[in-house]
Amino acid sequence: MKVSRRNFLWLSGAVVAGSLAAKLGCAPEEPVVEPDPDEPTPEPSIEDDFRLEFASTVSNVCSFCGVGCGVLCYVEDGKIVSVEGDPDHPVSEGALCSKGAAMFQKYYEYDEKGNAIVSPQRVTEVLYRAPGASDWEVKDWDWAIQEIARRIKDTRDADFKETNDAGQTVNRCESLAWIGSAKCNNEENYLYRKFVAAMGIVNNDHCARL
Ligand code: SF4
Repeated sequence: MKVSRRNFLWLSGAVVAGSLAAKLGCAPEEPVVEPDPDEPTPEPSIEDDFRLEFASTVSNVCSFCGVGCGVLCYVEDGKIVSVEGDPDHPVSEGALCSKGAAMFQKYYEYDEKGNAIVSPQRVTEVLYRAPGASDWEVKDWDWAIQEIARRIKDTRDADFKETNDAGQTVNRCESLAWIGSAKCNNEENYLYRKFVAAMGIVNNDHCARL
């Protein structure tokens, strides 16, 4: 159809007027279909139901920050398939912030069939970047633990101070710093704190301020 300039303006005006009429409630109402009371309510199919149908529920605490919101993890075949806020948790009563609500994505994502798979973005190996290097090397855990222990010992041996400038006993090493993790539980954080105190490390912190 050939649309002249006049026709185009007329058609545009008609479309705008129609939209406005719908917004103002002038559009014809959709017929309401009442359910037939004699018909049984259809059972939801497995496709309609949650992926949580066969999952067990594990109560846990969000690992992102010190607020400590409660989460329910749905686990199937040893794998978390979904996470949501725990409505019975006294701290958060079911609410989660955007980080906590996205916690599932720290480890998993869904494939095209909706199955939970370990996220390919998850770091599962020790990666080491040497001083001045631009590339990461894959290392094994034995190497990493030995290397960390060696560097801590060398630094502590070189910088440990028994007394300060005023001659007071301090027994500390100021050239090491340590940071904990909200992924650790209370007991692990207790051990972490004991360890840094025993090492004389005074620069220590934790993202949850424990
Ligand atoms: S990160 Fe968000 S959901 Fe997790 S504990 Fe902190 S406030 Fe709660």
